Parts: sequence; structure tokens; C-alpha cells
Amino acid sequence: MNAINQAVKPAAERAPSYYSASLNYETDYPTLQGSVTVDVAIIGGGFTGIATAVELAERGLKVAVVETNKVGWGASGRNGGQVTGSLSGDEAMRKQMRNTLGEEVDDFIWHLRWRGHEIIKNRVAKYGIDCDLKHGHLHTAMKASHMDELKATYDEALRRGMGEDVSLLDAAGVRAQLGSDLYCGALKNTRNMHLHPLNLCIGEAKAAESLGALIFEHSEVLDIVHGPRPAVVTTGGRIEAKQVLLAGDVYHKLERRKLKGLIFPAMGGIVTTAPLGDMAKEINPQDLAVYDCRFVLDYYRLTADGRLLFGGGCNYSGRDSRDIAGELRPCIERTFPQLKGVQIDYQWSCAMGIVMNRIPQLGKLSSNVWYCQGYSGHGIATTHIMGEIMAKAITGDLEQYDTFAACKHIKVPLGDQLGNPMLAAGMWYYQMLEKLR
Ligand SMILES: Cc1cc2nc3c(=O)[nH]c(=O)nc-3n(C[C@H](O)[C@H](O)[C@H](O)COP(=O)(O)OP(=O)(O)OC[C@H]3O[C@@H](n4cnc5c(N)ncnc54)[C@H](O)[C@@H]3O)c2cc1C
Repeated sequence: MNAINQAVKPAAERAPSYYSASLNYETDYPTLQGSVTVDVAIIGGGFTGIATAVELAERGLKVAVVETNKVGWGASGRNGGQVTGSLSGDEAMRKQMRNTLGEEVDDFIWHLRWRGHEIIKNRVAKYGIDCDLKHGHLHTAMKASHMDELKATYDEALRRGMGEDVSLLDAAGVRAQLGSDLYCGALKNTRNMHLHPLNLCIGEAKAAESLGALIFEHSEVLDIVHGPRPAVVTTGGRIEAKQVLLAGDVYHKLERRKLKGLIFPAMGGIVTTAPLGDMAKEINPQDLAVYDCRFVLDYYRLTADGRLLFGGGCNYSGRDSRDIAGELRPCIERTFPQLKGVQIDYQWSCAMGIVMNRIPQLGKLSSNVWYCQGYSGHGIATTHIMGEIMAKAITGDLEQYDTFAACKHIKVPLGDQLGNPMLAAGMWYYQMLEKLR
């Protein structure tokens, strides 16, 4: 039996990380073999694919998710775990969506901003998913111009009746929340959350499975067959469906003619220290997730067992051979000098899909084949919002889908060759602007 399993299960298991070392349980879904028929076939077992599968299964559809590696293998199982009300690309969205929504655009974006939090909270409660979910977040300022931005967000939150969830802190106020002298202020938001993303993703997969969804791991989709009955094809199997959703984000190479040049990989790195014991309470007594206002930012939080999980920097070459611990240690020690020399137990990196204007990309490849991708580093809440929007669209309610699908995206000519150098140049430009802010 083992020999057969090893023969059908090819290479990639989980990338080593704090998350894979602290899984509630390991998934063991079968490899796709032979022929299967469902209502909707979904390519990709990250948050986009799995969240959409839950939504569709809850609506009574027969769903199959097909994943090259393991559920949560990509960015969904390796990210910073911060669930914030940032949709990424808000400004570009506002400009473009004004054409379709008119004056309602600001309300549309504001409400959407918090929709992912609701979906995640409700799903965790409904299916009893153990993923260390906690509330509390600080968006920190490192200079006066950052404070102006935070004040504008704070004022909008007050105008929108969210006053109970937000407070604006000065330097002393931040110092009361964090054992760091790095910041001149912060916006504290108790609606934002943090969690163990891999345990959320596999918990949601289990929820989908409990509703009848089929999940296949170690099953790379090699081709999508278009037509009145579309199909996805792997080495050993085929799924025929009424509809197909491509949810492979930056990790897939399918449908190049239409999708090439739309989304680019940026490699993000994260480390996790050894458990900090009493020091954890000293540096972050309220157990808040934190990120700063810079364009390329540092982000961190405590894990359930009191380690500091710290991410930052990005490599826009599309490749990654960095010494992540060597790169992030000075950032940790600058933030918390009391952690000088702290032991780093885990380091890992992962690709995130960056879109030039930062608006998530939703669209159709043919009449019954859809795609949904590109969250530019802000994907935990957003993938869940998009999962709901895609499930509504697939079942005939196109209103929100159409608003996103109407947004225009820059397609970089020769995208696979020129995309990342252009992205790197763009990021350099924005970092230069950042220094002038
Ligand atoms: C280092 C890092 C830190 C981040 N921190 C945060 C954070 O704190 N907060 C936040 O909101 N967002 C964060 N993000 C972003 C967030 O993780 C992503 O936007 C989100 O997880 C994307 O989900 P996804 O399902 O679209 O893609 P993924 O999770 O990457 O999943 C895509 C899946 O598709 C599979 N696949 C690809 N091609 C095929 C194929 N041909 N056949 C079958 N399967 C295929 C892949 O194996 C993969 O498992 C971070 C990202 C990174 C990389």
C-alpha cells in the first residue's frame, strides 16, 4: 500500500515553517485518479479555492478542489496571519469603480473591507476551527506623515460608526502597548484579527469536505478543456464540471495567452523565534498584531506558544535565495533591542501575487471558466471576500463580480520575462517616494 501511495504521490510536501510544525493535523487527501463529475471544479487549495469551495458547498453544489501540493501549501499556509481591513488597491479601486457605482463607491469599498472578517469569524465558530484567532492590531507610524494617514483612517472609522473599535495613540500610548521605542504613534483597531493561517485553511478544507466537497492533493492540473462541459486534466485523472474556477494565484502557469503579464511573484520572508517566556508579555502584553506604515513594511505578532513571528522585506526578482534570518534579525533587534541575540527557530519564504494596480483580478477565460487572483500581500480577508463574490457569481448573482471584473488591469507585454524587472523598478520608485513622505 505504501509503495503504491508513494508511486502516485509525487514530491512536494509542506514547506518547513513554524506553521507546518504546529499543524493541528496533517491532511491526506487522495490523488485524482480516473474520471469525476461535479458542478464546479476548483484549481488551487489555498484560501481562494477552499473558501469558494465552502461557499459553494454551503449553497448545495457538488465541488471538487484540485491541488498540486497540499491544502494550504502556498501563501495561504505561510503568511503573516494578520487579518486587516485593507483590501489593497483601495485608491485605484475607488477611481475605477466610480464608473460603475457612482456615488456609492465609498460605501461599497468600506463595507467590503470588513466583510472578510465576518466570514472568517463566522466560519471559525460554525465549524469549530482551532486557529488561534485573536482580535487586536496596531498600525504603527514611524514619522509625522504616517500619523496624518492614520488620522484620516481614524476619522473615517469614526464617521462610519466604528468608534468603539479604533483609537489613535501617540508615542506614549504605543509604548503602553508595545515594548518598543520605534514608533511615534499608531492606530489601534480591535476589529482586526490575527490567526494561524495554515490551521484555518485546513480547517476550512475539512468544513468543505463535511459538506460533500471532494479534495485532491498531489494533483497538478495540466490543462483546462473549454467547452459546454469544461474539464480539468491531471496526469492521472479528469474532472468534468459545469463550471471551473482557476484559483492558483501566482503559482500556476495555466492559460498563459490570457493571463500572462497580469500578476507577478514577490518573495516575502518570515522568521519565528524560540518561545520567549515572560519576555513575550514584556514586548507585546496585549497580544496585538502589528505592521507599520511603510510601503515595504515590517509585520509581527506573537504565536500561541509565545514566539515572535516577524516578517518583512520583499524580493521582487521572482526568485529567492536570501538568508531570511540574517536579513530580519536586525529589524527585530531595532524594534525590540531587548531581543538582541534571540534564537531563531524557523525561517521561510513564499511567493505572493502582486498586481500592478493592486486591485484583485476577477474574470472569465470562457463562458464557464473563471479566475480570481492577485491580492498583493493583503489576502487573508480578501480571499474570503472574493470566495463569496465568486460563489455568488457562479450561482448567478453577478452584481459584485461585475464591479470587480470591469476594472482594467495593466498587462505587461512579455510578462513572464519583463514583469518582475518592471515590478522591481516600480517598487524601487515607491520606496524612493516613501523616503520623501
Ligand atoms: C510571506 C507572506 C506574508 C503574507 N502575510 C499576509 C498577512 O499577514 N495578511 C494577509 O492578509 N495576507 C498576507 N499575505 C498574502 C496572502 O497569504 C495571499 O494573498 C493569499 O494566501 C493568496 O491565497 P490564494 O489561495 O489565492 O493563493 P495560494 O495560497 O498561493 O494558493 C494557490 C494554490 O494553488 C495551487 N496550484 C497552483 N497551480 C496549480 C495547478 N496547476 N493545479 C493545482 N493546483 C495548483 C498551489 O500549489 C497553491 O497551493 C502574505 C503572503 C506572503 C507570501
